[in-house]
Amino acid sequence: MTGINFDVDEETQLVLNSLDEFIEREVAPLASGLESKLNNPTLGRRANGQPTEEILEAIQSIRQKSGEAGFYAMHMPEEVGGQGVSKITWYAVKRHVASKGRGLSEHVLKGPEGPNALLGLAEGEQVERYLKPVVRGKKSTAFGQTEPDVGSDSPSMSTEAEKNGDEWIINGRKQWITNAAFCDFALVLARTKPLAEVDRRYDGITCFIVERDEFEVGSVNNAIGLEGWQAEILLDDVAVSESRVLGPKHGAFRDAMELLTMGRLELGAEAVGYSQYLLEKSREYAREREAFGESIGSFQQVSSMYARGRAKTYMADAGGLRTAWNLDQGNDIVEDVSIFHWFATNAFWEIADNAVQIHGANGLSEDNPFVDHLHLARVLRIVEGTDEIQLNTIAKQNDLL
Ligand SMILES: Cc1cc2nc3c(=O)[nH]c(=O)nc-3n(C[C@H](O)[C@H](O)[C@H](O)COP(=O)(O)OP(=O)(O)OC[C@H]3O[C@@H](n4cnc5c(N)ncnc54)[C@H](O)[C@@H]3O)c2cc1C
Repeated sequence: MTGINFDVDEETQLVLNSLDEFIEREVAPLASGLESKLNNPTLGRRANGQPTEEILEAIQSIRQKSGEAGFYAMHMPEEVGGQGVSKITWYAVKRHVASKGRGLSEHVLKGPEGPNALLGLAEGEQVERYLKPVVRGKKSTAFGQTEPDVGSDSPSMSTEAEKNGDEWIINGRKQWITNAAFCDFALVLARTKPLAEVDRRYDGITCFIVERDEFEVGSVNNAIGLEGWQAEILLDDVAVSESRVLGPKHGAFRDAMELLTMGRLELGAEAVGYSQYLLEKSREYAREREAFGESIGSFQQVSSMYARGRAKTYMADAGGLRTAWNLDQGNDIVEDVSIFHWFATNAFWEIADNAVQIHGANGLSEDNPFVDHLHLARVLRIVEGTDEIQLNTIAKQNDLL
């Protein structure tokens, strides 16, 4: 019988150690001047909400150095520039970096701008031109699924692509697309067969690689916690050749779902790491801060906020490890990852809210990291599938919906 080990194994520990050294050497010097502005909705942002040039350059430099050092997308296969580490190692690495709190170091590891399951389907010329440079952090991408009228119900998308000779002509509008304005190319989902002509709603959708200079960027979509990173992609008779079809023609949706599955695991790992960071900050403060002649941690209402958070983080982490382990075994993780994402992001939200509460007025100050984490926690309950969509998935996996 194969045993399950919840400890960080030796190989993963070596990765974590060298990652810490990298962060200390390459990120810390940049961070000292920029960290206070990085996620600050006013200090680090231009008038339209987008990050300042200074911040964008720092992030790009970190991404490239991390790519060269092999950290950025270490879970990708070696033949495309990754290190092929297991999903459980990738989970531990994501959690570890988040456990340092939000900051420049989070850009050491790939996020939505990095390689994903769809890009992993690249073939031939696409591998050299798009996949490998993204794995190496030299280029970045964006994933365009959501539209002004369609979010969770993405098969109802109205973006269309029609074949015209050797080319596909794409028309539509995508919204809330992370990195849309700063990417080198976007992966755009478009309907290539009308909904009325397909057997299943998820069929008839194709993914296209669209270069940054081939589409217009519309309004910036500013969300709390991630101000300035999302924007509209406007596609007005954009012509791309057949070589830009990524993955199966008319059948990209299944792979897009796989992209979201990995995204859910990664965001859940981050939620666990950020929760650990906030819990430690809250514990230290509860021990030091005094009121009525006692440390506030000695008041049961305060200590129980901490204890509840600790219990939920423990359970979320156990769920994340199990989900990553299942993925490594090749098992179906559709239900696991929805359970994990829903539980971990809701735990993070409660822990972030309580971190603000435990720190009192200091918790609300923009000079402290708590409101920023609270905002991010709120975002994570909507992206990569809302709370309700995760719960629907769990119900469906158990023949209820
Ligand atoms: C910061 C941020 C980054 C994002 N990045 C990207 C990106 O890079 N690429 C991309 O394509 N999209 C991106 N999105 C969009 C994101 O994926 C969508 O916001 C999300 O899928 C929800 O869609 P929606 O906002 O249209 O809400 P809707 O789907 O309209 O849902 C509204 C409400 O109805 C509920 N609801 C909907 N359907 C059901 C149902 N069947 N049962 C029960 N309740 C339901 C939802 O849970 C929600 O509470 C991003 C969004 C944000 C905020």
